[in-house]
Amino acid sequence: MHKPRFLDQVAHELGDRYAFTGGFARGRRPFQPAHVEPNWPRDRSAEIRHIKIELALDFEHRRISGTATHRIAAIADGLATLEFDATELAISAVRAGGEPVAFETADRKLRITFARALAAGDEVEVAIDYSATPRRGLYFVGPDEAYPEKPVQAWTQGEDEDSRYWFPCYDYPNNRSTSEVIATVPEKFTAVSNGALIENRHDSAARTRTFHFRHEVPHSAYLITLAAAEFAAIEERAGATPVLYYVQPGREDDARRAFGNTPKMIEFFERKIGVPYPYAKYAQVAVSDFIFGGMENTSATTQTADTMHDARAHLDFTSDPLVAHELAHQWWGDLLTCRDWSHAWLNEGFATYFEAMWCEENLGADEFAWNLRQDRGGYFEEDGHHYRRPIVCNRYRAPIELFDRHLYEKGSLVMHMLRRETGDALFFKALNLYCTRHRGRNVITQDLQRAFDDATGRNLDFFFDQWVYKEGHPEIEVSSAFDDKRKLASVTVKQTQKTSDAIGLFRLSATIALMDADGRETRHRVEIREREHVFFFGCDKAPKAVRFDPGHDLVKTLKHKRGREALELELTRAPEAIGRSAAAHELGIEGSPQATAALRIAMLGDPFWGVQADAAAALGEIRTDAALAALIEGLGVAHPKARRSVVRALGEFRANARAAEALAAVLEKGDPSYFVEAEAALALGKTRDPRAFAQLEKALERPSYLDVIRTHALAGMAETRDDRALAVGREWCAYGRPPRARVAAIGTLARIARHKEPARDEIVEFLTPLADDREFMVRMRLPAAFEEIGDARAIAPMRRLAERDLDGRIHRRASEAVAILGEGRSHIEEGNRLREDMDKLREQNKKLQERLEKLEALTPARES
Ligand SMILES: [Zn+2]
Repeated sequence: MHKPRFLDQVAHELGDRYAFTGGFARGRRPFQPAHVEPNWPRDRSAEIRHIKIELALDFEHRRISGTATHRIAAIADGLATLEFDATELAISAVRAGGEPVAFETADRKLRITFARALAAGDEVEVAIDYSATPRRGLYFVGPDEAYPEKPVQAWTQGEDEDSRYWFPCYDYPNNRSTSEVIATVPEKFTAVSNGALIENRHDSAARTRTFHFRHEVPHSAYLITLAAAEFAAIEERAGATPVLYYVQPGREDDARRAFGNTPKMIEFFERKIGVPYPYAKYAQVAVSDFIFGGMENTSATTQTADTMHDARAHLDFTSDPLVAHELAHQWWGDLLTCRDWSHAWLNEGFATYFEAMWCEENLGADEFAWNLRQDRGGYFEEDGHHYRRPIVCNRYRAPIELFDRHLYEKGSLVMHMLRRETGDALFFKALNLYCTRHRGRNVITQDLQRAFDDATGRNLDFFFDQWVYKEGHPEIEVSSAFDDKRKLASVTVKQTQKTSDAIGLFRLSATIALMDADGRETRHRVEIREREHVFFFGCDKAPKAVRFDPGHDLVKTLKHKRGREALELELTRAPEAIGRSAAAHELGIEGSPQATAALRIAMLGDPFWGVQADAAAALGEIRTDAALAALIEGLGVAHPKARRSVVRALGEFRANARAAEALAAVLEKGDPSYFVEAEAALALGKTRDPRAFAQLEKALERPSYLDVIRTHALAGMAETRDDRALAVGREWCAYGRPPRARVAAIGTLARIARHKEPARDEIVEFLTPLADDREFMVRMRLPAAFEEIGDARAIAPMRRLAERDLDGRIHRRASEAVAILGEGRSHIEEGNRLREDMDKLREQNKKLQERLEKLEALTPARES
């Protein structure tokens, strides 16, 4: 499942902290309250071998009715009763072996009593007639007066435990069955489900069509899918496998742009895993209003229609991460499935790492490193501002709580470290062994460990213990010296993290690179186990730069103070872009005129866009006139992602007419990239130039991919501190406006409420009813907005949201907001104060830098 990660990805593409959940920074809290008990995997009394779902969809009444038939086998003697999960389903009859049996429903369960108890191995077919108007599991989408263009669709979402809302089942991953879906829909509609289509029957009298799918490879109930709408189908092939895209008619070109790399990815993953794609077909169905990015239903992935994009967006946006993620799940998640949710990183961490691996294959090592850097950023954000937990963890209130940055991003990074620890040959050998040994089965982390033990000959218990079963990461401090007499360079490496039962000292293999004045490097592999090590390396001259973990392969924080000359050398000569970028970042902190000059050159000329972008960001940190001049020059860089960063950096120059003018010009004459224009709107707002507001109002009229320009113009308006932003924010919150713009407008209002005390009451009152909004994204955005406002009156609506909302993610976010708001405003205010102090310090720093520049400019004159 690609959960808000798709939205995060868009947010990342935009550098947009307003996009989804808001970027209100706060401190680390416990993952769970102390009273939350462990969840152990469920017991089974019967094996469910086959599930057949016959269903008619009534789009008008948003109702389903039909029969679910399970072929079951008793596991032990004396099976007299059997329970199925069934939530909000109206059960009308149950038959076992064709004979009616007694049943009762209570507490989200259907309990049947067999006429006589089954013996171990006895097989029987249990048929359940039912109907429902589902609120979860199966979703009907269609137009209303506010959104008349919305297509009529139905689609399902089973993971984690929502299949029970659309068919009675054993709704837990530790059972696998073959499956069959027979769906009757209006005659113009196409239904898509798992496996092969074995019949498509038209009933002209009833004006319906019945689609019959059969899936022959056993899988867990949460992976059963059904989507139905008027779809256009595009068919391609990957070897013998049919590859299909089902999309709204008229969007075929956007679909090819979004999904077109799928066949190549299938071939790449087959080669890497050494196991052919295992199913009859691979379909991707693009649906509206999807509540995740994508869902890896076996052989028939559901994707958010939002990922389809036009040619202009394709300049600097790609669906490849989403497509690769869901495809990788067909092996990791579907063919092998976590036995219970506590091991769900075996699904999600793998799929996330395979996104990065496709990026490596398709775009090369530097893009791969950027992809992993994004994973690290996500993990560090959660670890630093939300909570810290072991990746394998069974203390949770709802399984969806585990689907977080630890599961996805840290899981991916752990896979990467495992690859670096074992080397490519053994890593892929072990993955192949793990896949072939466990295909068609449920897995736990120990299965992966055993496969690595057996394939590599190494015992990696220490690795899994520190990275998967314990929490946190090493905090490293590095310093270096040179002994000229003995011709020895020494590098001291310390682990400074506080250790406890939950986190110990780490055992790490790391690389240390020593660079001479010409940029030539020697690299040494070292092993770290202790709190402190001193490593000695013989060399004729003192190294000009020492780099620890130059590829940024380890999950760690690093303190390593280096002089400006070393940083400049790294910025120009480090072979990996990720190393040059790290140097750019530190030069931005150093901030001298020489650093400014070096960053300017990197921004204009580095061969990798990411380094150009980070050099621009560093110039934005320096904020001197020289930095501003360089950034204005940087508006001409060719790569749109680098240009985006230049524009963003210009937004750091508050109340600076030159910066504002440059940004206004970008908006006025337009940019080939939507994202650059969007960023210009936000940055212009941040300058607080008096002309900004009018420019942003104009930008609100521009349509763009996912409304990025509008969302950024709305965020920019909040930054202007202009009183007129309040009315605009209210207007764009309205039901009927594009959903993403509504979400952005909530952010605008929250920001205004924080900064303009007199508007606070009005805004809290205005936002409160949105807790009942029909739009998922809107409800999901509210808790962060109220946390930012920090008004205790929001506790009641947030508590209501936490109690009533059916979505576990909203439930969790709203509960967090209740806790934070309940602690009073003191630390929220403290956070705001700190932020303001930081702004003041930056201003002072800027003035000092300017004085320094003037002094330096005078110096040569005096010398001559
Ligand atoms: Zn996933």
